[in-house]
Amino acid sequence: MSHTCSHLLVRCMDFRLEDPIHEYLKKHGLVGKTDIISLPGGIKDLVANGRESVTIQQICMAVELHGVSTIMLMNHSDCGAYSQHHFGNSSDETAFHYRQLCQAVETPRVVFDNNMIYTLLYGYKNQPKDPSFKIQQLYIVR
Ligand SMILES: [Zn+2]
Repeated sequence: MSHTCSHLLVRCMDFRLEDPIHEYLKKHGLVGKTDIISLPGGIKDLVANGRESVTIQQICMAVELHGVSTIMLMNHSDCGAYSQHHFGNSSDETAFHYRQLCQAVETPRVVFDNNMIYTLLYGYKNQPKDPSFKIQQLYIVR
């Protein structure tokens, strides 16, 4: 069995993400090709601590050990790690996570200058009837 994989996902540890993440990886042909780092708040540690974060240390290990070339950074709505923010509505919450994800890419973008990085956001509200609340790819850094 190969000890390399193409992708790395940084996600929140929240158990509710299990099915949608599996669905996303399956849809994109990434099952069995993705290292997964699960931390409370997903990218929260990376945004708060940058190069000193546990997250960046774990990303470094995935890149060194498994040759990861694509880094996916993910946050989600209704996250307990951000409960102190008391979002007024889902638009405010989405905007907040968008800003967090924009900040989160900065450290890996500098540290891993050859890796593709992109961000994902998952929302819970009204699911599964509302098709907009799936994992959304927000933007690709490179
Ligand atoms: Zn969470």
